[in-house]
Amino acid sequence: MSAPKRFPASLKSAAAPQRELLMPQRHLRQATADAAKLARPSGTGLDGGAVRERMVARLRAEGKFNEQVLAAMAAVPRHEFVDSALAAQAYEDTALPIGHGQTISKPSVVAHMLGLLLAGRGAQQRGSLGRVLEIGTGCGYQAAVIALLARQVTSIERLQGLHDKARQNLQRLALPRAPRLIWGDGRLGHAPSGPFDSIIAAAGGEDIPPAWLEQLAPGGRLIAPTASGRGQVLVVLDHLLEGGRSHWVRSEHEAVLFVPLKSGVV
Ligand code: SAH
Repeated sequence: MSAPKRFPASLKSAAAPQRELLMPQRHLRQATADAAKLARPSGTGLDGGAVRERMVARLRAEGKFNEQVLAAMAAVPRHEFVDSALAAQAYEDTALPIGHGQTISKPSVVAHMLGLLLAGRGAQQRGSLGRVLEIGTGCGYQAAVIALLARQVTSIERLQGLHDKARQNLQRLALPRAPRLIWGDGRLGHAPSGPFDSIIAAAGGEDIPPAWLEQLAPGGRLIAPTASGRGQVLVVLDHLLEGGRSHWVRSEHEAVLFVPLKSGVV
């Protein structure tokens, strides 16, 4: 087995050109430091980080993604979350099957959604996603990226097979703040871990489940693919507290195509 390869070189070089643009910078530095602790040889030739850096460089060239998010994506080995037969495609901007009829989202979609979450007023003030609830752990890739941008991550998956797979994938990575993985129906949220500053759904529903609104802290932001008059779109909801009264402001973004948000566990 070859010596473990380390991420810092790739992350630093990926983050360096934009560094002066970042406000606040603490979290990028934290992501860099956290990424430096991740190390694992995979033997696929993809673990050196160069291919991953190229993926991030392509996203950066589009000029519309948040640099903190790109730095976190530069640190997480996406190929280790997919079947080894698909590893070579892991750094293309494409959704990939992860078993059980589910898919891992396209990197550009992950970057876009996490960027929208970080653009919320609360996240801007704190410079982090804070306490996060993810619905739809899948293979655990997005949970790993979020873990580098948040204080605490709780991620729920309804399919036990994927919940177990994500646990294995994430354990191998030894993230500094391991996501809390729950096997359950994410439509109910996870009250014991809440309230949450950020909520992100990786599966699309007909509506926003009431439990998510109840568990979204004041100042918090939620993003979820949701059915609308023009098909499935990304919906952003902000929980505002004004004069001691809560209200929720909803905005609709572009059309998307996510796997369905289902009820119950399997
Ligand atoms: N974020 C994931 C993408 C997973 S795809 C990743 O990085 O791999 C969406 C996932 O949502 C699927 O695994 C699906 O089983 C799950 N899902 C659908 N409805 C759900 C529900 N009600 N509660 C929890 N998970 C759900």
